Amino acid sequence: MQKLKYTDNGISYIENVDFWKFVNATLNPDPICGECLKPIANEKFVLIPILNEVYCKKCAKEVLQQMKWYEKDRNIHDARTQYWCRAFGINIEGGKENAVK
Ligand SMILES: [Zn+2]
Repeated sequence: MQKLKYTDNGISYIENVDFWKFVNATLNPDPICGECLKPIANEKFVLIPILNEVYCKKCAKEVLQQMKWYEKDRNIHDARTQYWCRAFGINIEGGKENAVK
């Protein structure tokens, strides 16, 4: 199931992106991992809103570990998080309650 989560430093990511909701939102039927460039249409993948990019699970973990929070990016971070959650039909408030702190 799709789920909005947050890293320890507050960066949002969406786990288990629904492939068809992704296609509907992006008109991209052939997503590839933004890190290793592997096609990921056939697996559960991760979207990182602040980067506007999707990743395979393995790369998402590595990318998220290396990301730093920049306060100046808060507005765009929040706006992109809202945009993608709306596109995927994810309830943001529910996501925040369930967020990994
Ligand atoms: Zn990858």
